[in-house]
Parts: sequence; structure tokens; C-alpha cells
Amino acid sequence: MSIISYIRTIADYPKKGVLFRDISTLFLDPRGLRKAIDGLVMRYSGAGIDKIAVIEARGFLVGAPLAYTLGCGLVLIRKKGKLPGSTIGEDYALEYGTDRIEMHDDTIVAGEKILLVDDLLATGGSALAAIRLIEKNGAEVYETAFLVDLPDLGGSKKLKASGYSVFTLCEFE
Ligand code: 5GP
Repeated sequence: MSIISYIRTIADYPKKGVLFRDISTLFLDPRGLRKAIDGLVMRYSGAGIDKIAVIEARGFLVGAPLAYTLGCGLVLIRKKGKLPGSTIGEDYALEYGTDRIEMHDDTIVAGEKILLVDDLLATGGSALAAIRLIEKNGAEVYETAFLVDLPDLGGSKKLKASGYSVFTLCEFE
């Protein structure tokens, strides 16, 4: 059984007309959680990944057990103003306005092989901003990984067209 059956869809969240793919139900069910993390572990075991970079907040839930199991470090990419140390940041466009993500400037070292992880890929705006952050420090994005892809929103196409590999465990049309 694919992980898709563990994900609940909530209509009209966060605004009317949007179908929100709610992964809290996957995390609630130990079988769903195990299936999701095992799927990623299987793909990345032995890949020689140095660190996993995760995007706040649901990306943390996916990346932490994966990093623990693979035995690699976890790099937190957070919304503006949340990290206590010296940071570098990247702005990215939202439907209305812009947002900013930040990362401690000493967490990634040139030449490292980084796996970028988030829960879901929609337009790809946040993933591309995270990639720019990772590359600022001279590291290599080995692959981008998500539990869910929403291909109609174009993120996976955009990432692939920019030369990045995309791995997802399921997709909603
Ligand atoms: P993007 O930057 O690709 O447009 O949006 C992806 C980001 O927005 C991810 O960090 C993800 O957590 C969040 N997101 C957007 N839509 C959904 C959704 O339907 N379900 C969940 N779980 N997250 C979403």
C-alpha cells in the first residue's frame, strides 16, 4: 500500500478552493510513519550523504528520523528570525508578496553532499530558495526528496528543468 492512503485531504484550507494534503494523519499512524521513513531510508542508504537539510516546519518531521537512521547531520532551514546564531538567507516569492528562509552560516561546508527534504512539493518556491542557500556555501544538492508531489503546481518540473533530481513517495493530481 502506498503512503497516499495515510494522507488526509482537507478542503478549503488555508483558503477557499485549496485542497490541503494533511500529513498529520500519516504521522499519527505508526504504519504510515514507518512506511514513509523506510521508503526514504531505502533510497538513500549507502548514498554517502553528508547532511540532510530540512525546511521548517513539516520538513523537520521527515528529515530528523531519516538523518538519525542514515547517521548523518541535520541542517535546519527556518523562517526569518528564528535561528539564534549568525545566518545567511534567501527570499522567495509567494502568491502575494515574499517570504524569507534562513540557515546558520556555519552548518554547511563546501564540497558536502546534501539531501534536501520537505514534506510536500507544490510550486517549488521554497525548495529552490533552500537550494540557493545550500549552494551559497559551496555544497552540492545530491537530490531533493518529498513525501508528496503536487505535479499540477509545477514544482517538480521546475526543479528538474533547473537540473535537480526529485524523489517523491506519492503524488496527488
Ligand atoms: P511550494 O514552495 O513548493 O509552493 O510549497 C511547499 C511548501 O508549502 C512546503 O513546505 C509544504 O509544507 C507547504 N505546503 C503547501 N501546500 C501544502 C499542502 O497541501 N499540504 C502540506 N502538508 N503542505 C503544504
